[in-house]
Amino acid sequence: MAKSYGFDTLQIHAGARPDPATGARQTPIYQTTAYVFRDADHAAALFNLQEVGYIYSRLTNPTVSVLQERIATLEGGVGAVCCSSGHAAQIMALFPLMAPGRNVVASTRLYGGTVQQFTNTIRKFGWSAKFVDFDDLAALEAAIDEDTRAIFCESIANPGGYITDLDAVAKLADRLGLPLIVDNTTASPWLCRPIEHGAALVVHSTTKYLTGNGTVTGGAVVDSGRFDWSASGKFPALSEPEPAYHGLKFHETFGPLAYTFYGIAIGLRDLGMTMNPQAAHYTLMGIETLSLRMARHVENAKRVAAWLEADPRVEFVTYAGLPSSPYFDRVKRICPRGAGALFTFAIKGGYEACVKLVNAVELFSHVANLGDARSLIIHSASTTHRQLSPEQRAKAGAGDNVLRLSIGIEDAEDLIADLDQALSKAVG
Ligand SMILES: *Cc1c(COP(=O)(O)O)cnc(C)c1O
Repeated sequence: MAKSYGFDTLQIHAGARPDPATGARQTPIYQTTAYVFRDADHAAALFNLQEVGYIYSRLTNPTVSVLQERIATLEGGVGAVCCSSGHAAQIMALFPLMAPGRNVVASTRLYGGTVQQFTNTIRKFGWSAKFVDFDDLAALEAAIDEDTRAIFCESIANPGGYITDLDAVAKLADRLGLPLIVDNTTASPWLCRPIEHGAALVVHSTTKYLTGNGTVTGGAVVDSGRFDWSASGKFPALSEPEPAYHGLKFHETFGPLAYTFYGIAIGLRDLGMTMNPQAAHYTLMGIETLSLRMARHVENAKRVAAWLEADPRVEFVTYAGLPSSPYFDRVKRICPRGAGALFTFAIKGGYEACVKLVNAVELFSHVANLGDARSLIIHSASTTHRQLSPEQRAKAGAGDNVLRLSIGIEDAEDLIADLDQALSKAVG
């Protein structure tokens, strides 16, 4: 699709075309596991990766393909691989790069589930992660060693309020010849396009804003197509002969699409963390209104954050869209359309008052999710960040007295009124 179309046009049209068999205008849900080969030669060409087409829905499915192209286009990438969840997408993103003994250097400010996945689970593959404060570029550089294969951060970092200086981190990654992976879940490509700031890869939990209505889990890995996988010899999966495909070299054969093809032909084939076509359908429906929703999310978040900050029962609000935020200037460069709709606030009365407040809200839902059309609240210390040590919690911005809000697209006055009555019950 022509690059000249605007975002609002692309979020509806990119990747989609009327169904060639029926003319169906909306993308059909191709609810099929397998696809009939034209003949034996066609089958052989598909299996040899000499022709692109559909074999089996663990690898590719036409509904999922539309979503992949749409997300890649909105992010300004050359290709994308959709996965069964955001966490699956993170493993899929690292998989082509890593090997036993290799590490990823990650920001301390990450979604709690990612901290867990990187601290404990990836060790079972022989991979490891080192966590650093990405505002300290010297510390970041010092943490990178000969075995580092990726740098990982979030654009607007969960639980909110922190904005990574993607330009500065990408510059460092570039100088050291390493790919920067940016989890862009909490910003969405309408607020932030990490590839324009130098990211090599972008990952998403499509569960959140891209779907936007809390119906399905999903993830995506987007490739910028700009990273040179052969330059350093550090990425043999992409630059060296692949035994599973008769010695084919992915980078040499597929050029800028090497990483995406590897993700499908090896990653999805052998790890099987595939998105199903129903989930792709819901996410495609959500993306059609992404820009409209994000604008409202941001507008509401600004109003709620400003109201909270002025309330004496509140200790502080960490929203980068407030002038009091240390990231107020940075966010204008990284997320020019606004600071998102995810932020935290601390209340007087600590842990106990927070627990009372989440029990007292009526309109806000107390759930472990974000990026829904409806407003959500969570006390991270007693839920998502529960398994982390107190130091890890504090570093991640999830202290005992802190609540996280994901502001929805309802009437801002109603959201404020709900927080007001809940604060009265929790703090008095
Ligand atoms: C939710 C989330 C994830 C994990 O995604 P799932 O779809 O829940 O697996 C990763 N990163 C961020 C920033 C998230 O908010």
